[in-house]
Amino acid sequence: MKQTFFETEIINIIDETATTKRFFFELSSKDIFNFKPGQFVMLQLDINSKIPYRSYSIASAPNQTSQFELVIVLNPPGAGTPFMWDHFKVGSKVMCAGPLGKFILPESINQDLCFICTGTGIAPLRSMLMHILDQNIEFQRIYFIFGARTKADLLYQKELTEIASLHPSIYFLPVLSRETPDTWEGKIGYVHQVYEEIFSDGHSANFFICGWSAMLKEARERLALLGYQKDQIHFERYD
Ligand SMILES: Cc1cc2nc3c(=O)[nH]c(=O)nc-3n(C[C@H](O)[C@H](O)[C@H](O)COP(=O)(O)OP(=O)(O)OC[C@H]3O[C@@H](n4cnc5c(N)ncnc54)[C@H](O)[C@@H]3O)c2cc1C
Repeated sequence: MKQTFFETEIINIIDETATTKRFFFELSSKDIFNFKPGQFVMLQLDINSKIPYRSYSIASAPNQTSQFELVIVLNPPGAGTPFMWDHFKVGSKVMCAGPLGKFILPESINQDLCFICTGTGIAPLRSMLMHILDQNIEFQRIYFIFGARTKADLLYQKELTEIASLHPSIYFLPVLSRETPDTWEGKIGYVHQVYEEIFSDGHSANFFICGWSAMLKEARERLALLGYQKDQIHFERYD
């Protein structure tokens, strides 16, 4: 499908980890950027690749402004992200298309929500959580399971820990695969063990899963074994 591109400007960049940056964009037109939490945009890049576009989930919630945030991890052998690391500066103009995608929340949230992500797969789920809180949308319980390798790879850690401390029905559950009990007080291992324990009784829930295909495939298979139906399992695949 042919996309319409519009100009944006990078207004801020934050180094979130050694390999991940938060990029803040503003529409040059200053029009309000309307999107649904969970949707993504396409960036047009001046790169030598058959496909000069790359997709990125919006990490911020819709806020009735012309601004939005992306969180992007550097993929050194790739064509797109090394270009961004070299060329994206505050003030850079970037052509963007969107919003796109159907990875969005249901109309009403009358079951537990379980967000499962690894790495920058956190982006659309952060957008959804912020939207639920900003708009005071009723929810049951929200389990936010975030997998990464080490403490140095945690994204939005302070913010999500604070949110969970203020909302007794929101559980932020970072799980790290390469830490030990000596180095990390939280959960160690992979995202799968975490939701399998919480949902071992098969109680009603909607799952939103985002990240790379291996994790997604495994999560979908394991949730099916717990008895969850396809319409309860929503996913966004990054590769
Ligand atoms: C819906 C969606 C949302 C995403 N959101 C995020 C996000 O929030 N944060 C994040 O870090 N990443 C996200 N990604 C992944 C992102 O789009 C890129 O794949 C990633 O940044 C690596 O890009 P790269 O150009 O550095 O690597 P590359 O290896 O150059 O490209 C990665 C992908 O681009 C496509 N591609 C590149 N070159 C070609 C070619 N010649 N022919 C055909 N296809 C090609 C392929 O799909 C390839 O897998 C998302 C992906 C999708 C689909």
